[in-house]
Amino acid sequence: MKLREQVENCKLLQKKISAYEYAMNVIYYDSATVAPAESSEDRGIIMGILTEEMYHIFVNDEVEKMLIFLLDHTSELDEQTVKEVEQLKEAYDRQAAIPVKEEVAYKELINQAENVWQRAKRDNDYESFAPVLQKVFDANKKRASYMKPDEKEYDVLLDLFEKDMTQEKLDQYFEELKKPLVELVQKVQNSDVEIRDDFLYRKYPVEQQREFSAYLMEVMGIDTERCIIGESEHPFTTGFNRDDVRMTTHYDEENVADSMYSVIHEGGHALYELNIGKGLKYTCLAKGTSMGIHESQSRFFENIIGRSENFIQFIFPKMQEIFEEQLQDVTAHEFYLAVNKSQPSLIRTEADELTYSLHIMVRYEIEKLMIAGEVKAEELPELWNKLYQEYLGVEVPDDARGVLQDTHWSGGSIGYFPSYSLGSAYGAQILHYMKKELDVDGLVAAGNLKVIQDWLAERIYKYGSMLTPEEIIENCCSESFQPDYYIKYLEEKYSKIYELI
Ligand code: ZN
Repeated sequence: MKLREQVENCKLLQKKISAYEYAMNVIYYDSATVAPAESSEDRGIIMGILTEEMYHIFVNDEVEKMLIFLLDHTSELDEQTVKEVEQLKEAYDRQAAIPVKEEVAYKELINQAENVWQRAKRDNDYESFAPVLQKVFDANKKRASYMKPDEKEYDVLLDLFEKDMTQEKLDQYFEELKKPLVELVQKVQNSDVEIRDDFLYRKYPVEQQREFSAYLMEVMGIDTERCIIGESEHPFTTGFNRDDVRMTTHYDEENVADSMYSVIHEGGHALYELNIGKGLKYTCLAKGTSMGIHESQSRFFENIIGRSENFIQFIFPKMQEIFEEQLQDVTAHEFYLAVNKSQPSLIRTEADELTYSLHIMVRYEIEKLMIAGEVKAEELPELWNKLYQEYLGVEVPDDARGVLQDTHWSGGSIGYFPSYSLGSAYGAQILHYMKKELDVDGLVAAGNLKVIQDWLAERIYKYGSMLTPEEIIENCCSESFQPDYYIKYLEEKYSKIYELI
């Protein structure tokens, strides 16, 4: 076999897979934004056909032989091609390890689980969901043991979202975080500082909010020739490739901060995808390296930049221009305080920056116990409510606002939740090191986010999946991941807001 020929085959394979992914992403984006309601059944059939076609293009003897051959010749290949081959082989082994019959059965299970979950959440009927949820956890456990029989099942699942992450590392991370965080939340609760936020919930017409979104994207330096924003029930971002990134938001006429922060959050994801190296296009490396690093970028813009006083001071004149009536009796400082008001609550997606990781800890504890077989799905509401009481001090009134609130488990994403908290912690550490080189406060105050974006592009974005999450952190910080920056960041910020000193 000729090496050059096989390298070409490998590049062609990735291009074909990219084409299928592109098509499926377009279909998904369309379905979430503009497709008519009745289209869902046919879309399911079409997506099924495309998924199967893509599976066969990837999982077959010829591809396996090619990957093995190329892995034997890595010394003759350039660095990027070596990474491509390594990651393809890893993905191949994962896919091929699961018997086709079980793969099909799993897809059906997930489809069923999502439907049952939707109804169960609507009707506040956890009992109907428990049996199928148990099956989803069992199936994931089994899939993990197929993929890597010698490793702990939860580690295998975590690795799918955050390369090289393990339960051991996460236990240590959350252990370090828990005590200071719970203490800080309690201090904030006991503070006498009253924050006014009534103006966030005035009437904000969608048209004005759309104008505001466009302004936020401009401030963030998002290239609107390569990225657009649509509207969907739940905001998300999907990067088809670096020249075609799609964001969405959701407008709530009675809550201006809701869409505002979803735009900034999704904008952070979009900046990552828009700045992936040109040379990685049509390869398996042309995407963010992990969920945690992706979240570090969205949360960096949403919270660290977007909820800073400097940022609010900068954008507030424009806000008052767009929302002339709604914000005439409000100062920038009041607005800054309002979007940082902290209150332990029931719903993760509505949680403030301070209490957010506590919501993740609840889910993490439950996932661990479920995968270890130490609890059963039917026991989860009780456990959930107990943990919410313990970590957040709130009483869960019903399962719809408790254990049924998130879609992740019904979608089979077990091991995903920790990425959100890791993202916040990575962001705080990255900020610390960015400040050694840049006057971050001054740049934000001047609305000059381009310099910040360039700093991140140079150390994170351009690499796509060339580097692991650990390597990305080293690249930004010249040290490995340390959670104490996150704790310090929260302590400093909230001590000031709630006058805790
Ligand atoms: Zn996100």
